[in-house]
Amino acid sequence: MLLIVPTSSLWSLTVVHQTLHERHRPPPGKRHAESPTRLVAARKALTAAPFAGRIVWTRALDSERTPQDAVAALKLVHTVEHLRAVQGLSQSGGGGFDMDTYCAPGSWEAMLDGTRAWLHATALAAEARGPAVALSRPAGHHATASVAMGFGLVNFAAAATAALLTARPEARVSILDWDVHYGNGVADLLREEPRALYCSLHEFGGFPGGGEEEQQRGPRGNLLRLPLPRGSGREAFLSALRDKALPFLLARPPDVLLVCAGYDGLLADPLATMELSPADYGEAVRAVLDEHGFPAERVAIGLEGGYALDLEEGMPAALVETCGALIARGRRGGGETDTGSGTGLGLGDSVRECERTRDSAAS
Ligand SMILES: [Zn+2]
Repeated sequence: MLLIVPTSSLWSLTVVHQTLHERHRPPPGKRHAESPTRLVAARKALTAAPFAGRIVWTRALDSERTPQDAVAALKLVHTVEHLRAVQGLSQSGGGGFDMDTYCAPGSWEAMLDGTRAWLHATALAAEARGPAVALSRPAGHHATASVAMGFGLVNFAAAATAALLTARPEARVSILDWDVHYGNGVADLLREEPRALYCSLHEFGGFPGGGEEEQQRGPRGNLLRLPLPRGSGREAFLSALRDKALPFLLARPPDVLLVCAGYDGLLADPLATMELSPADYGEAVRAVLDEHGFPAERVAIGLEGGYALDLEEGMPAALVETCGALIARGRRGGGETDTGSGTGLGLGDSVRECERTRDSAAS
C-alpha cells in the first residue's frame, strides 16, 4: 500500500559543498590521486542516489560562515606562519609542501571555502539541525599546526571543532575518524582539549606512521588510537567500532559527533590494503544511530580521503551508503511510515538545489 507522507515530516540531509575546490588542483600535466574529480564523482553519486530528494544542497560560499570566520577558525589550530605560507604559496603561483602535498594558485581560496563547509556542517549538528555533510577536499586530518602533509594544507576537522568550542564553551565534540590513515594532525591539535574526544580507526603501519599505542590516551585522556591489521575487512572494522570506538566516543553523548569520513579503507582504494565494502560504512552509521541511540541530527560528516572513484565500489558509493543510513534513521526517528521501498522514491521528491549562481569568490 502506498502511504503518502508529507515531505515536511521527512528528515533531510544537508550537504555543504566546497564549490571553489577546483582551484586546488595538481600542476598541469601531473597526475595525482587527489584531484577535483573526487568531488565531481561524489556529487554525481549523491544526486543519483535514491534519497536525492532529501538532500538540501548548500554552497559553502552561501553559508552563514564568512571567509573571515574561516580564517579565525584556522588561527585557532594553525600558526600564523603556516597560514601565511599556504596563502603566500597559493598566491605566488603554487608549488609543493612535500612530494605528495601540492599547493595550486587558488588553493588558499579553496581552503577557506572547505573550512566554511566544515564550520557550517558542524554548526548545524551542534544545533540539532543535521545530519550534515561537508563535501570538501583535500583530506585535512594530517595537517598539523605548522605542517601541511598527506595532501592536506589545513586541518578542517580540528578547526571546526575548535571554532565550535570557542563559540560554545560548554559544548562537547566527539570525532570518529574512519579514514584508513591515522589522523595525526587532529590528534596532535586536540590532545590538550578535554572537551573533544578523538578516536581513529586506521591501518597499522600506514601513512603517516604512529597511532599504534591503543593504551596511550594522551595527556588529557581524550585520544583513542585503534590500529587494525593490514588487510582487515568488515569484521575487524566493525568490531573495533562497536567494542571500542563508540563506547569511548558516546559514553557521554556529545553535542556533535563529527566523522572524519575517509573512504580509503575500501577494497577498491589504491592507497591502502584494507578490504571494506561501501555497505560497511552504512553499517557503521547504523551502529552509531541504532545501537547507541545517537541522534542523526547531531551527526556531521566531513569528507577526508578516498581515491577509488568507481560509482559502485569506490568512495562515491561509500558516501552514498553513509548518507543513506543517516537519512533512513532520521525517517524512522520521525515516526512516519514510508512506502517500504526504502528509497524515498514516489513521494514527490525533487532535489532541492540551493545553488544560487552567485559567482563572487572569497575575495
Ligand atoms: Zn586517508
